[in-house]
Amino acid sequence: MTAPAGPAGFAGVGPSAAEARRSRRPDPDAPLVTLSGVGPKVAERLARLGLETVRDLAEHLPRAYLDWDEVGSFGDLSAGEEGTVRCTLERIRVRPTRRRNLKLVEGVVTDAVGVRATAVWFNQAYLAKLRPGTDLLLHGVRELGGGFRVLRHELGGAGIHTVGLVPEYPASEDMPSHRLRALVDEILPQARFFRDPLPAALRHEERLPLRADALAAVHRPRERAEAERARERLALEELLVLQLGFLARRRSLADAATAPGLGDEGELVARYRTALPFTLTEEQEGAIAEIRLDLARTEPMQRLLQGDVGSGKTVVALYALLRAVEAGHQGALMAPTETLAEQHFLTVEGLCNELGVRCELLTSSLPAAQRRAARERLASGEADLAVGTHALIQEDVAFRSLAVAVVDEQHRFGVEQRRALGRTTPHVLHMTATPIPRTLAQSVYGDLDVTEIARPPANRRPVVTRWVAHERSSEAYTRLRRHLREGRQAYVVCPLVSESEALEARAAESEADRLRAAELRGFRVGCLHGKLRPAERRETMDAFKRRELDVLVATTVIEVGVDVPNATIMIVQEADRFGLAQLHQLRGRVGRGAEQSYCLLVSRPREELTDEAVRRLEALVESADGFELAEVDLELRGEGQLLGTRQAGLSDLRFASLLRDRQLIVKARTWAGRLLDGDPLVVEPLGREAERIADHRGFA
Ligand code: ADP
Ligand code: MG
Repeated sequence: MTAPAGPAGFAGVGPSAAEARRSRRPDPDAPLVTLSGVGPKVAERLARLGLETVRDLAEHLPRAYLDWDEVGSFGDLSAGEEGTVRCTLERIRVRPTRRRNLKLVEGVVTDAVGVRATAVWFNQAYLAKLRPGTDLLLHGVRELGGGFRVLRHELGGAGIHTVGLVPEYPASEDMPSHRLRALVDEILPQARFFRDPLPAALRHEERLPLRADALAAVHRPRERAEAERARERLALEELLVLQLGFLARRRSLADAATAPGLGDEGELVARYRTALPFTLTEEQEGAIAEIRLDLARTEPMQRLLQGDVGSGKTVVALYALLRAVEAGHQGALMAPTETLAEQHFLTVEGLCNELGVRCELLTSSLPAAQRRAARERLASGEADLAVGTHALIQEDVAFRSLAVAVVDEQHRFGVEQRRALGRTTPHVLHMTATPIPRTLAQSVYGDLDVTEIARPPANRRPVVTRWVAHERSSEAYTRLRRHLREGRQAYVVCPLVSESEALEARAAESEADRLRAAELRGFRVGCLHGKLRPAERRETMDAFKRRELDVLVATTVIEVGVDVPNATIMIVQEADRFGLAQLHQLRGRVGRGAEQSYCLLVSRPREELTDEAVRRLEALVESADGFELAEVDLELRGEGQLLGTRQAGLSDLRFASLLRDRQLIVKARTWAGRLLDGDPLVVEPLGREAERIADHRGFA
């Protein structure tokens, strides 16, 4: 642990000559049974921690470090305070409890200045075997009654370091941290000989230690800052491997396909701008400028346009589509659902008529003959634009010359789908209304360029959001009726029923009936859910738009696409059941006009809510910013749960944290580009690393 410093000021393990001989040509993939003292049984315990090879163990990142040199006393800690105290064990026993699966271990300990305390562990009965006189390092919380609840501990004893920082590993009852520490001690000298896949140029420029030194420093740091720098080194490598994979995939696609270069803006787009009843925001103009550059190239555009609901993405997407049309090609707008496709079509159609652009709707609910006719017009080039669901446009249509495809909502759109769209590859713009932080987007959608529209058009006032306690829901309806009497319209969102869409539809119907007879008596109430036939759904929507209905009682089918500026208030029932992103999407249905809008989140009684639900609702009340909420969501749910992280292989990063290591992600991305532009031999070791990780973790 007090080994001489390595090249970059990191603690090297400094193997002796004898050690080096013994561990000649160490194999990182050797199973752990090759270690002394590891038989099949121990190997099995290690495997349960995900540790199977020497490399796994070398890369087993400590969860925390305890400092034997930190001299604290129980006497210095007040109740509730957390601290680390070095002490000696006097006696220890298992204390029976009434609950069968709860075991308490109680140890009487004395610290360096003679203060005695009762240390308490939960469910670690094996500790009762500790001998009196054992040195202990305890980290925990001083309790009210004077006891000390142990959160982490380290044992001293013969042959175990009791100076400086000691790593604490993710461990199990039958494979405690101190045993892992001993095993890591055994393999660290071998780890010196593992190859370092980072190119020397990168290592020098970023002043990074060798991999072996970083591993040594992570396991045996002299100070915490050193451990953190070493972790960052390992995290950067991990992220670089991922980014190289993304970029390589992207470049191979770019090499394999060409899209029509669309030159510069023409007359149609100029008319489009004049036809818009508003001026574009700075951010919309920024997005358009980026897309304009993309479209001038023959390398197919692969761009993600992120922006909150109502931020004005559709206007930008239409720009891209019209660019295709004015250059003599075609465009396609693809939506994930029929409702959304219809909704898009309504928006697009009016504008197209005005501009003399011929637009087709393609949904499965269209009569077969009509659909065939639409397809023929797209094949002959008589029609300029198609709006439909992903499936329909991909499988059904041979375009005469598709140049731009807009894909709405996070639908992975790879090489194969592009090919399916026609002889040439279109430029593709992906849109998503559930933004994720930019650096994260670069990891999750690493093969796309990312553009953000972070602020909505200025004419819009943020929706005022209130969390209404269950007992006061009647006040929410009083408020809603006030809006209705002023000639405004409203939404009531029914509780989420996850079992089935049919059940949910029935629940919505009966809730609409109940409201017609009670809170909303005298008002015109429509009901919208996923079990309605498309024609019925459209009828209800149109009636709401024409103000023939005052209130829409709906399931989450109104989450996307519905755009009625006169609707200024929304009540969400049992709001605690919904996810954060979903509630934010729902809320986006109001606040579409210049009028101040309201969203009232009625939850079940507070005592029934989980902490997470409470934080979700609080976050919504506090913020109207989708990007900010995406961060909160990420923190609440953890990065593993995040959409896309699993498929991108990001859910089991060992060293990097998508939340904490934003800077490193950016750095890794920059380096990946530089390395791919340079000598292929330089990235080869990293490529092999990527393959190894892919094999090992089962993703490609
Ligand atoms: P998104 O697709 O991001 O949800 P839309 O493009 O549908 O957003 O825009 C939402 C609403 O805002 C539409 O009614 C649209 O006409 C309007 N809108 C878009 N851009 C602007 C702008 N620059 N100024 C004023 N209103 C705008
Ligand atoms: Mg939209």
